[in-house]
Amino acid sequence: MNHHSFTQHGTRGTADWQRADAAHFLHPFTDPKGLAAKGARIIERAENIYLWDSEGHKILDAMSGLWCVNVGYGQQALVDAATQQLQQLPFYNAFFQTSTPPAIELAELLAEITPPQFQHVFFTGSGSEGNDTVVRMVRRYWDLVGQPERKVIIGRVNGYHGSTMAGASLGGMSGMHAQGGLPIPDITHIEQPHAFENGTGMDREAFGLKAARWLEEKILAIGPGRVAAFIGEPVQGAGGVIVPPASYWPEIQRICDKYGILLVSDEVICGFGRTGHWFGCETLGFKPDLMTFAKGVSSGYVPLGGVMVGGRVAQALIELGGEFNHGFTYSGHPVACAVALANIKLIRELDLVGRVRRTTGPHLAARFAELNDHPLVGETQTCGMMGAVQLVKDKATGESFAGALEVGMLCRAHCFGNGLIMRAVGDRMIVAPPLVMDCAQIDEMMVLIRRCLDLTLVELKQKGLFAS
Ligand SMILES: *Cc1c(COP(=O)(O)O)cnc(C)c1O
Repeated sequence: MNHHSFTQHGTRGTADWQRADAAHFLHPFTDPKGLAAKGARIIERAENIYLWDSEGHKILDAMSGLWCVNVGYGQQALVDAATQQLQQLPFYNAFFQTSTPPAIELAELLAEITPPQFQHVFFTGSGSEGNDTVVRMVRRYWDLVGQPERKVIIGRVNGYHGSTMAGASLGGMSGMHAQGGLPIPDITHIEQPHAFENGTGMDREAFGLKAARWLEEKILAIGPGRVAAFIGEPVQGAGGVIVPPASYWPEIQRICDKYGILLVSDEVICGFGRTGHWFGCETLGFKPDLMTFAKGVSSGYVPLGGVMVGGRVAQALIELGGEFNHGFTYSGHPVACAVALANIKLIRELDLVGRVRRTTGPHLAARFAELNDHPLVGETQTCGMMGAVQLVKDKATGESFAGALEVGMLCRAHCFGNGLIMRAVGDRMIVAPPLVMDCAQIDEMMVLIRRCLDLTLVELKQKGLFAS
């Protein structure tokens, strides 16, 4: 068999894919030896909210790929936009005093759908590159306005801002900091607004204010004249869908304003309708100076990211800045921008943002709340089309399982075995389904979730790990 016919799509079986995968493909955030021992699951096609693997199993994708396929799979309008742009102009850069129609039109449309302070965008290829851009732009801003000693950027423990050197540094994932000498200098963190873990026994809104004031304490400890910016996800995604109390973000805003600090909203997950408004800062009630986006901007059909630049920073960059020595080959990639344009127009046509706010989001919230009667469930939370179920050993006290038991991973294995993609963050089970999911499909997902919780409970009881 010649090499080309051998690599033709669809001519190889699961075992063969798995062998080649283990031999050559180092996966992100994966133990290669562990994966090689069991073999990767090969995903071959998708439609709407469903995936099919190489064994023909149908799987309900409750994670939108990786928080990104907001319009669901198989949307022809995005395919057509990519095809047409690939034929007309597959690539041109924006470095040589040149621009392309899709990048210009997308910039214009983003200025229209983002909050009014945003009239400018800097394009990148991913969310991580967006947050790297934030670090450089924030420090450039303070240089330009004559306060170069303002360098420190404050993030949060268990926040996620990507995996480049700066992205991983802004994030507060201890496992990431432990590899590669991170964080880079002048990035520090405060504790997260996780009421279930950090606010036990407190009134929820009082805890929100307390958690926000950790920012003020940190600013005062560093010295306000050295602090450049604060960055956070409106709702923490990869950290476990942690929805902060309503009091949190307005208080963060007040503190940033008081000390003149730039406020950065990482909207990579929350943007483009996920929370029931176009952007998470609108749902959570704050007004950022910079906003990182990626994922849902193109529904993941092609890679694209960027930073929305608010008036305060844009004015300094434009009026005082001269050349900003920063950018990527694919900043404003015409095919990516054409797909994003088609994606945003489709979100509008289908009124996905309004549907999440008025219909599917409230339905998901009501259905998740019903899970509170389950013996394994310590709390549930939702915001728009994201949800979390905290598994606990003792419902009455909220006592957690020992981390080494990896109860979340047990539950995740039941999900995968029952045609449901649900993610585990520790013992917190999370979903972020495509925004096209309707109420009947939410009900279908809830049947699977409850079945997987039941199977997890049975397994824990069999192993003598769950008493009552
Ligand atoms: C996924 C994510 C990123 C990183 O985006 P990449 O495209 O993977 O680089 C940054 N911030 C948040 C909040 C994310 O969820």
